Amino acid sequence: MSPDLKIARESNPSAIEEIANNLSIPRNALELYGAFKAKLSWDYLKELFSQPKRGKLILVTATTPTPAGEGKTTTAIGLTDGLNRLGQKAILCLREPSMGPVFGVKGAATGSGLAQLIPREDINLHFTGDFAAIAAAHNLLAALIDNHLYHGNFLGIDPRRISWGRVLDINDRALRSILVGLESKKSFQRFSFFDIVAASELMAILCLSQSYNDLRQRLANISVGKRWDNKKITAEDLEAAGAMSALLVHAFKPNLVQTLEHNPAFVHGGPFGNIAHGCSSVVSLNTALRLGDWVVTEAGFGSDLGGEKFVNIVCRQSGLKPDCAVIVTTLRALKFHGGMDLECLSQKDVDSLEKGFPNLLRHIQIVEETLGIPAVVALNRFLTDSEEEINWLEKMLSSFKHPFAICDHWAQGGSGAVELAKRVMERSQQAQHDFNFTYRDNDSIIEKIEKIAFNIYKAGSISLHSHAQEEINNIEQEGLGQLPLCMAKTQYSFSVDPQLKGAPQGHDLFVRDVRVAAGAKYILVLCGEIYTMPGLPKIPASGSIDIDSDGNILGTI
Ligand code: ADP
Ligand code: MG
Repeated sequence: MSPDLKIARESNPSAIEEIANNLSIPRNALELYGAFKAKLSWDYLKELFSQPKRGKLILVTATTPTPAGEGKTTTAIGLTDGLNRLGQKAILCLREPSMGPVFGVKGAATGSGLAQLIPREDINLHFTGDFAAIAAAHNLLAALIDNHLYHGNFLGIDPRRISWGRVLDINDRALRSILVGLESKKSFQRFSFFDIVAASELMAILCLSQSYNDLRQRLANISVGKRWDNKKITAEDLEAAGAMSALLVHAFKPNLVQTLEHNPAFVHGGPFGNIAHGCSSVVSLNTALRLGDWVVTEAGFGSDLGGEKFVNIVCRQSGLKPDCAVIVTTLRALKFHGGMDLECLSQKDVDSLEKGFPNLLRHIQIVEETLGIPAVVALNRFLTDSEEEINWLEKMLSSFKHPFAICDHWAQGGSGAVELAKRVMERSQQAQHDFNFTYRDNDSIIEKIEKIAFNIYKAGSISLHSHAQEEINNIEQEGLGQLPLCMAKTQYSFSVDPQLKGAPQGHDLFVRDVRVAAGAKYILVLCGEIYTMPGLPKIPASGSIDIDSDGNILGTI
């Protein structure tokens, strides 16, 4: 059993009713999923949303990661526990894990060491069934499209221009491109594709909707392709949106669980930060901001990805505004960006650290200057970090007068993040005149791409595949050009080349494809080679997962 799972298994969780009671959530508002998980009823949420928000919002983002991740989730959990140790009422809002990474390279997404969410195995595998509901609703729409073709296609759908594929919550590269309709002469044979559930437009819709009416309307607006006469075809045209909404009724309600230190955590929605918008649900944020003094949330991957999209998509659509950001970094990641090999990152090397440091400076610049959010740098300490390296980093950051905290939540739990909690509380007092969207709604799509490319990625140029340019023209002609962008780009570099480490500038941003997500209300911009269905690595984590004779899960969950 992995050390993390052992810690989680040996913990002593409170009943979920008790966690809810500490937030003054009444018992009859809980919809229980066993003893340690609950959803909140819509009647209760509706009443709650009529009350004003009282909490401050803390966005946890990070420097450019190594493949294992740099500890945003772990730090977000530690910070929530740290704030509670200071007597503050702090609530965590995180994304739900996807089984793609759980069985792939990254592994579980419920924290590590003494900063974890429980019940660990449940949250990482199936949880309350939200991902399954999203997959069912997505695939229902796909089935209705092919069924419509089969029964005569009276809407005149052009089968070559169907943009809606199918989804699965498993990394499966064999499904990236498929042929459907092979089983009978009456079926329409055509190419199609699978995406991972985290990349489904429904995942984004679930995370961005603020009510059932909003959810229903967004589902109706989903565009699945074009007719022969070039008009778009929507989920409503196929009479799919009602049944899809019915499948999502429970998934739409936030899930309450707890940290190892019995502090409340809403874990809800799970779009990835590279191929989707990367943030947990607005409904869970809206809930937590009315129940706690502090709400800590994480946006996927570095500040160039989830951080940018939290501001330009989530905040723009919801009216939320972060009071402070935490930029999580590790000596490992900085040394990796300074040119060190992945296998050597445990070794001391101040030289590589110094070479990789510009990556951190770039992220500070993005968060503080470009997005205009006061930030604290959190060094997520690993046992192999040397004092010499930590001192070097501390000295550099103090020479820039940048707020900084060394965090030991992995080894110590909440007490190891009290210093970070204090810095965050101080930084949040700072007036936020500078909070800034990167582009305006009425900029053209190209202007929006340029503003992100030049101001966030520090690219020197952009180039577009002719198909991308064509789609941009179509979207603007349809009158949807005012939507924000959801950039899909590798998480390993500011550029589209995952090998280009550190803080590159002057590179070219290649836009391969552009698609409108009319339901999510954003324009997906696919940059470079990025797959919306990931593959598994040569040695997947699934190989080490098993059960014992009592059905307990073993291995690296
Ligand atoms: P992120 O959310 O940034 O992707 P996570 O918090 O999920 O990162 O952490 C990724 C993995 O790194 C964890 O599953 C854990 O194995 C490891 N990890 C994180 N922080 C520490 C730490 N301080 N010491 C040791 N391992 C850590
Ligand atoms: Mg994470």
